[in-house]
Amino acid sequence: MTSGVVGRFAPSPTGAMHLGNARTALLAWLHSRAHGGRHLLRFEDLDTGRVRDWAYDVTRADLEWLGLDWDEEVIQSRRLDLYLAAAERLDTYACTCTRREVQAAIQDSAGAPHGAEPVYPGTCRTGSLHPERPAALRWRVPDEVVCARDEWRGETLCQHLPTQVGDLVLRRNDGVFAYHLAVVVDDAASGVTDVLRGEDLWTATPRQVALQRALGLPTPRYWHVPLMLDFRGERLAKRGGAPPVQALREAGDPPGRVLSELARSLGWSVPDEVSAPELLPLWRAELGRAELGA
Ligand code: GLU
Repeated sequence: MTSGVVGRFAPSPTGAMHLGNARTALLAWLHSRAHGGRHLLRFEDLDTGRVRDWAYDVTRADLEWLGLDWDEEVIQSRRLDLYLAAAERLDTYACTCTRREVQAAIQDSAGAPHGAEPVYPGTCRTGSLHPERPAALRWRVPDEVVCARDEWRGETLCQHLPTQVGDLVLRRNDGVFAYHLAVVVDDAASGVTDVLRGEDLWTATPRQVALQRALGLPTPRYWHVPLMLDFRGERLAKRGGAPPVQALREAGDPPGRVLSELARSLGWSVPDEVSAPELLPLWRAELGRAELGA
């Protein structure tokens, strides 16, 4: 079955993959392969200060060990010219405000409703306030409501760009391009049709759709899957001591047992050891349920 589906797993090589990362990697692979589609591995390594050089090879080895293959690899740090070209096509301005100044402006304007994420109030919109400082590049967002649709959750999320998102940083003042810009450029350049990723990115999806529209790029289908929780009910984190896949691999654990554990954490009933292809029917059944809205 070939369906023209192109999917991807897009890890940040900032440390070793933990089981939560592996579960997202597994689901992204299952989604691409269940459709007979292409599957890409994209290293999101623009934030060079956080990148660990060893994490690329460890991630590749972990994925191979789990049997999650890929057809093409993309490395963001080699594609800076593409992000620059995209940023140049947008209505942007230089911003020299520090984080503290932005926070103060938000408080002065009583901007952020309680509990909501603070929204940049456009302090630098009318001109750069401190020309001697290094400037970030911000996108002057259009006065529009943009909606994103999630196929997995069966939800639509709409945000008014100026008041709920604010002018986005496209390039930080240290020259690092923003994730939101890079992800949109890369998904389009690779012909990605289906984005399966962790649900922590769901609320940022409307701004990515807004960037796609402004750049004339297609919007893929989105599937935001729950993040894996630890026994305390907290999200697994690289910094929080979640067990790295590398440690299980090097300890000689069978990969099939790790896959079985990941599958069981999704509520799937599987034997103690499984292979990734053996999980394809279970993902197809989930897709059927999502389609029915069950
Ligand atoms: N690099 C992001 C992460 O590791 C994923 C981005 C995406 O899938 O769009 O959380």
